[in-house]
Amino acid sequence: MVKQPLDTLPETLFRCMLPGMASILLIEDDQRIRQSLATRLAERGHDVEATAKAMEGVQRVAQGEIDVVVLDLGLPDVDGADALQMIRAISEVPVIVATARDDQAAIVRIFDAGADDYVIKPYSTDHLEARIRALLRRAATQTEVAELVVGELHINPEAHEAFLGNELLDLSAKEFELLAYLAERPGKMVSKRELLAAVWRQPYGGADKTVDVHLSWLRKKLGETAAEPRFIHTRRGIGVKLVNPEK
Ligand code: CA
Repeated sequence: MVKQPLDTLPETLFRCMLPGMASILLIEDDQRIRQSLATRLAERGHDVEATAKAMEGVQRVAQGEIDVVVLDLGLPDVDGADALQMIRAISEVPVIVATARDDQAAIVRIFDAGADDYVIKPYSTDHLEARIRALLRRAATQTEVAELVVGELHINPEAHEAFLGNELLDLSAKEFELLAYLAERPGKMVSKRELLAAVWRQPYGGADKTVDVHLSWLRKKLGETAAEPRFIHTRRGIGVKLVNPEK
């Protein structure tokens, strides 16, 4: 993976000086396209990382801190549509698909697989950058997250705080993420695999004991037990859901 040399300023300062700039991940196997795009986007002040391999790109997304992914659909190691699904399993990062296939069916499939936008090759840096800016504007309005309320449970994702009634819950970072993820989907059964991917960024399985252990800690803090659940309801072999116990 090539990290383009950028600016010597710390990233936080860099970002607040240039609010329109983005961390862009290019997944493109054509070396000429990859290098020229990476260079031109970096020249315009974006923080650009580039890789030729889908799996490396998916792993990079899992590490977080990427604002936009530009994904070539024709990749040698994994089909682009499959790569897109892997990215979608672990992240809601905006993805622009770059495709040479100018047919309607392919484009419909791309959106079904979770793409936010697409560009048809060959495209200019100006065109791609305009698409990136539009996506970032949309993402910025979506990230003004409202408080999540499930019964007496109030979760503020921005402040990273959760209250049960008036009591601030003392949660670890993972307990909070787990609770917030479930609270965003009240009443919906979520599989442990999905939780491992979303909360622990482990899209390829791992030990689901991790989820069980955190659920039991979370239960304790919510003042309930597996035998007498209130908010957290598990079904063996299926998953877990968060419900409003007053309903
Ligand atoms: Ca390609």
